[in-house]
Amino acid sequence: MNPPITVYGAYWCPDCRRSKRFLSEHQMAYTWVDIEQDQQAQAYVEKLNNGKRIIPTIVFEEDGDFLVEPSNAQLAQKLGLAARDPHDFHDVTIIGAGPAGLASAIYLARDGFNVMVIDEGALGGQAATTERLDNYPGFPDGIGGGDWAQRTVAQARRFGVEFLQAQTVTGLRGQKHSRWVKTGDGYEYGSCAVLIATGADYRRLGVEGEEDFIGAGVHFCSTCDGPFYKGKDVAVVGGGNSAVEEAIGLLRFAESVTMLVRGDHLKASKVAIDNIMSEERIAIRYNTTVTRLTGDNKLETVWVKNTASGAEETLTPDGLFVFIGQQPNTGFLRESGLWLNDYGFILTGHHLEHRPDWPVNNGRRGVLETSVSGVFAAGDVRVGSTKQVASAAGEGATAALLIREHLNNS
Ligand SMILES: Cc1cc2nc3c(=O)[nH]c(=O)nc-3n(C[C@H](O)[C@H](O)[C@H](O)COP(=O)(O)OP(=O)(O)OC[C@H]3O[C@@H](n4cnc5c(N)ncnc54)[C@H](O)[C@@H]3O)c2cc1C
Repeated sequence: MNPPITVYGAYWCPDCRRSKRFLSEHQMAYTWVDIEQDQQAQAYVEKLNNGKRIIPTIVFEEDGDFLVEPSNAQLAQKLGLAARDPHDFHDVTIIGAGPAGLASAIYLARDGFNVMVIDEGALGGQAATTERLDNYPGFPDGIGGGDWAQRTVAQARRFGVEFLQAQTVTGLRGQKHSRWVKTGDGYEYGSCAVLIATGADYRRLGVEGEEDFIGAGVHFCSTCDGPFYKGKDVAVVGGGNSAVEEAIGLLRFAESVTMLVRGDHLKASKVAIDNIMSEERIAIRYNTTVTRLTGDNKLETVWVKNTASGAEETLTPDGLFVFIGQQPNTGFLRESGLWLNDYGFILTGHHLEHRPDWPVNNGRRGVLETSVSGVFAAGDVRVGSTKQVASAAGEGATAALLIREHLNNS
């Protein structure tokens, strides 16, 4: 534990922010006092500065010494530290460059914070792999996912966002005023706050032909791709709540839906099952697994097997929607202390506070704040997210505003 340090400043002061970042970077615990919220502190700062209100004023309790508007080099000298590469430490580290991470980076960098985004894959996330984004506001004719990603990354770069690409985040640890993100090459990047926006992968069937026809007859999202099947016949794979709800949702577009259920019953809530049983345009085939998918340039034939009789059969729906769950990208959080739900999605805000085991003295959490203070989550990786590009970007923007508040108050 280093001797107590108190930073007197105000939330709008960039030099205060820089000094706090420097202390965090060097893992120096400090107490932050906003003099606009504390009359006594304001008077104290004026007394130290011969009647002038100069911030930041940083007081070192051990020897009673203080520094006024110090440069990083002066702070380093006072603390007996060698200055480190400033690019190793940021105000905010964002893990994941999908719509949530990119939107947040744009907001934060435009606000003057220095931001680094780390991604193991292509910038743009799942959205970049989407053939056509038809439901993102502002593009009346739709936009290719790759094109959308390029534009959004260019916008982020314009505001000075740094990108660390092709690096997988493997761990996250926290200290009082800093968070440390570890990458696959063993390096650690520090920051005052972290946003986790690593998304979730749709579980795949893992059968021959599936990869070839994604976006060309094989789909994982009815809100995204259902409208392409107006008046057509589609099949849905899955028998859980999401499959049942999506099957009902698809009836807004499709003429008929055939559900392909592996077991001999649906594993959905009673309400959902009651709803589906009253739908004449939905047929359910139990004990049915998909074995392969074939076609020329698009899906034409779905090969299925009856697990009870062993009989094989072919079906020819216009489209196949796979709803067998999602796998959040949260494996790297195993030892982070973050609370996840049973499926591995990150709990934030009221999802935490409503848990009976949430300690009362842990206090309130912002709507996108995780169980670890200073660590936020947005987009598909979060419990309760709606798995859309527009909502992920919206959560990213909201997270940025919450992070700004957190940084200004810590
Ligand atoms: C084929 C397809 C079509 C879709 N079509 C539409 C559509 O038409 N309209 C719509 O609104 N939505 C659509 N969606 C859904 C939409 O793309 C997602 O809801 C959205 O991209 C989620 O954004 P996100 O930022 O939360 O996560 P993602 O977009 O999943 O981004 C997460 C990022 O985190 C990175 N990452 C993960 N783990 C790590 C790690 N450990 N270290 C470093 N980086 C990591 C990933 O590489 C990825 O780039 C579609 C999805 C798919 C798969």
